Amino acid sequence: MAEQASLIHCDVDLDAPGKQTGFLRLPHSVHRSAYGWIPIPIVTIANDDGPTVLLVAGNHGDEYEGQIALMDLARMVAPDDLAGRLIILPAINFPAVMASARVSPIDGGNLNREFPGNALGTPTQMIAHFVSSVLAPRVDHCLDVHSGGTSLAYDAVLLSGPPPVDLEARNRQRAYIEAIGLPSTLVFRGGGVTGGRNLGAVIRAAGGTSFAAEIGGGAHVTPASVATAKAMLRRYLTATGVWRGAPASEPPAATRFLANGPEDYLYAMEAGLFEPLAGIGDEVDAGQPAALIHFPDTPWRAPVELAFPRSGIVVCVRPLAQCVRGDCLFQTGAPWPDAFA
Ligand SMILES: [Zn+2]
Repeated sequence: MAEQASLIHCDVDLDAPGKQTGFLRLPHSVHRSAYGWIPIPIVTIANDDGPTVLLVAGNHGDEYEGQIALMDLARMVAPDDLAGRLIILPAINFPAVMASARVSPIDGGNLNREFPGNALGTPTQMIAHFVSSVLAPRVDHCLDVHSGGTSLAYDAVLLSGPPPVDLEARNRQRAYIEAIGLPSTLVFRGGGVTGGRNLGAVIRAAGGTSFAAEIGGGAHVTPASVATAKAMLRRYLTATGVWRGAPASEPPAATRFLANGPEDYLYAMEAGLFEPLAGIGDEVDAGQPAALIHFPDTPWRAPVELAFPRSGIVVCVRPLAQCVRGDCLFQTGAPWPDAFA
């Protein structure tokens, strides 16, 4: 039996030159709209021969720097600026973006845990399937811009898969990382927290390169975090070869490679109030006090002290004081200067 085609209709011609705007129409039959669809905005800009680059934000709806920077790009870039094709999805999980929530309010779906998706599944699974089956085969390079969302705050960090064994592939990956030029690059030594269900996995499986970035978080943006996202995107477009204009004026930072594994996450083991004892960018040692959990329901009980499980640099912290057992409080990365040597 032939594989089920996506039911999502794309307003724009993904192979046409010029600048097009429109929507991915995701069929959604509900009480107030029996034959309705969910409008996921898409912008394509194409000119001459060159790579196809997919830029994504709103994979999680409460992560805003990428949304703002991609809307800016979508308005600004003209076909003459390019040699190749840009596909821009600034609000890929549109229901989550409209709700300012990590997951879709319609089906509870976390898009970045749904790939490769399902053509006949929930709305979130249908979005993942469209990307996997329609976009991924066309895409040479993809950058998926995240932040910590509501429950985590990051300094700007690029996320990378493990260094490839093949020397040429490793050098290529390193070249992209250095061109993107965020101050830190977190290199996952295992499968990471998504278990391979993320957007980048389907891009790489189809032969493309893919990175994700974590810029800011805590359900807000700052002048610095938006500027970081915009500058990163300009450097990235130059590095892919799709940008034929003047190179980005903001130089890349010399990135610091950090290794990340399961032991680099610190979790609350009791419900209470989280008092951090370290901040983003701090260098910490294994066993060093990381947090106090206080108990407002039993104020005379001494707070529980938690320690960092592994030495490293703090890359993200929970910005919300209230916590329950299982909430991630800190993520660290261990310096790994020769990760791509
Ligand atoms: Zn995210």
